[in-house]
Amino acid sequence: MPNLTLPEHLQLARANTPLQKMEHLSKQFDVEIFFKRDDLTGSELSGNKIRKLEYLLADAKAQGADTIITCGGAQSNHCRITAVAARRCGLSTTILLRTADPKNPPPTEGNILLDKLVGAEIVWVSPEEYKNRSAVFEQEAKRLVQNGHRPYIIPEGGSNHIGSWGYIAAMEEIQHDLIAIGKDNFSKTTVLSAAGSGGTTAGLILGKKMLGLDVNVAAVNVCDDETYFKNEIAAICSDFINNFAHDIHVAKDEIHIVDGYVGRGYALSSPEELRAIYNLSLTEAVVLDPVYTGKAYYGMINELKKNNNAFGERIVFVHTGGIFGLFPMAAMFEEIFNG
Ligand SMILES: *Cc1c(COP(=O)(O)O)cnc(C)c1O
Repeated sequence: MPNLTLPEHLQLARANTPLQKMEHLSKQFDVEIFFKRDDLTGSELSGNKIRKLEYLLADAKAQGADTIITCGGAQSNHCRITAVAARRCGLSTTILLRTADPKNPPPTEGNILLDKLVGAEIVWVSPEEYKNRSAVFEQEAKRLVQNGHRPYIIPEGGSNHIGSWGYIAAMEEIQHDLIAIGKDNFSKTTVLSAAGSGGTTAGLILGKKMLGLDVNVAAVNVCDDETYFKNEIAAICSDFINNFAHDIHVAKDEIHIVDGYVGRGYALSSPEELRAIYNLSLTEAVVLDPVYTGKAYYGMINELKKNNNAFGERIVFVHTGGIFGLFPMAAMFEEIFNG
């Protein structure tokens, strides 16, 4: 089997994460369900973003940058992982975190605590400013330059053509994982994950194309809708194809979005979603996060309840991390435990 040639990158993720069969879940739906444990890519670096950052931070260093600027929601996993990884590489970070009232930012808990522990500079921005974040990025970059720094901007979620390499490499890992256990009938397999900014899904689709696998790649969107994600993912894929001149093509109808599970909105949980997280913790002792993997999981089991063949014979659910986002939700979980 030929290996992919990957560009220069940093070694930051604990890659070759386990592929674990979920026994109870598989029995419950009479489908083989595996979890690709990308929540085990590290401790403070845990989650999917570190795979993308291996390529993005290598590029930042190659360009001589000394400060990373990036953005996300208040409890952004991406910003936390960027802040930790950048610090480890000797770089500083400025992170733009979205919050309803920037004058009254949320308490120092979960990811925010970790951001502060590694000395990230936090700039609180309102939802309106965040919508126009390219202007805020420019303004912050200008300020850093005036103070003698060399900033490097990483877009939301690290989702661009460079970051895509992370999940191209992960798709190759999944291919090897499945072959190692004799499950190489890829056409009957779906690789399923949560989509928040689309880069993970884009990487998995590009990886499948570059490896020539006929595996199905699908994603449950945790915000926006199917049209938005098809456009975003198609744009990341075409940027990648243009930049790295690979002889592949991604059509929009190959981008499978499982819409209908945004629920109350981005980072807002419903009791049903939290109950699903609790149930999985009780049966498999695997803990999901409320913002991404919990919603994707809730979407997966609801689709399976309607049709247990919805994703084929086998599902590889990518557990993309996010555990620190659970802790600010403790009070809502109390209600689930008591109810
Ligand atoms: C960012 C994130 C995702 C979504 O990945 P994208 O590449 O942004 O679509 C999924 N799960 C977790 C835990 C995340 O932090």
